[in-house]
Amino acid sequence: MTDNLLEIKNLDVVYRSQKNVFGGESLVYAVNNVSLDIKKGEILAIAGESGCGKSTLAKTVMKLVTPERGEILFEGNNISNLSDFYKKVQIIFQNPYSSLNPKMKIGEILKEPLEINTKLKKDEIQTIVEDKIQKVGLDKNVLNLYPHEFSGGQRQRIAIARSLILSPEFIIADEPVSALDVSIQAQIINLLKQLKEDFNLTFLFISHDLSVIKYISDRIAVMYLGEIVEIGLTEEIFSNPKHPYTKALLSAVPELNPADEKERIHLTGELPSPENIPQGCKFHTRCPYVMDVCKTTHPENIKFSDNHSCKCFLYDNCVV
Ligand code: SF4
Repeated sequence: MTDNLLEIKNLDVVYRSQKNVFGGESLVYAVNNVSLDIKKGEILAIAGESGCGKSTLAKTVMKLVTPERGEILFEGNNISNLSDFYKKVQIIFQNPYSSLNPKMKIGEILKEPLEINTKLKKDEIQTIVEDKIQKVGLDKNVLNLYPHEFSGGQRQRIAIARSLILSPEFIIADEPVSALDVSIQAQIINLLKQLKEDFNLTFLFISHDLSVIKYISDRIAVMYLGEIVEIGLTEEIFSNPKHPYTKALLSAVPELNPADEKERIHLTGELPSPENIPQGCKFHTRCPYVMDVCKTTHPENIKFSDNHSCKCFLYDNCVV
């Protein structure tokens, strides 16, 4: 019996551009051979630069994007066969300004999923809605107001309340605080941590902000050009990062990375476009340790412990 709530196996997501005048099309591998397990009750964070495929991965798990290859299992069952999937899995989007219907009152927004997905009576629905809005730190009087009457932080609280309304087990949080003022971000992160305990939730947490990830996550998967290049316990990734790309991400946040200046890796060059993914190790065009083999051969996963692994030729001769 596995304690994994979600399992992603060999997932590829490919975007196809429109056919050109010669009938050709270009393929963009937004997610490339990703495999991940998320244990019940944990917060797994996906870190990486914009454009690395984090949000595409989130949308694919949410069944908003169809994968080219691979499968996603929830409680051991393929998500495409689960009729009650959206009762169990919910998403919090980045932008609380566009994720709430401006023409609906907050009460209507929160009632809608219950009216569509359950046979509960009106007064039972009202009780759940009032309970959930208070759980996110807002008064039940806000149910009669419209989204435009709230600040960004309050709107994100409402979006979080909506994500909880069907009592899901698993929540995907896709950059949930990056559109908010810094002063509000900590409040929302603390709220998510509290809700995780109160409702026994499991999270896939997407963020480009390593300070936020360090604070909230149990494990981190680092993504580069659609691929997981390193995964490990949060503490281990921060204290003993292995992959040069992970080290470079940490070097960009000096307060999180106390290494000497000479040990820091400063990223050079732009993230290659997904249409022109480099051969071999995808990071070789920016890696200060690049070797000939990196330019032609794709590195395999090297395991350092049960919880920590990375894809890099620097560790090929490691004794595990
Ligand atoms: Fe750098 Fe080579 Fe490791 Fe890629 S495989 S991260 S290019 S050393």
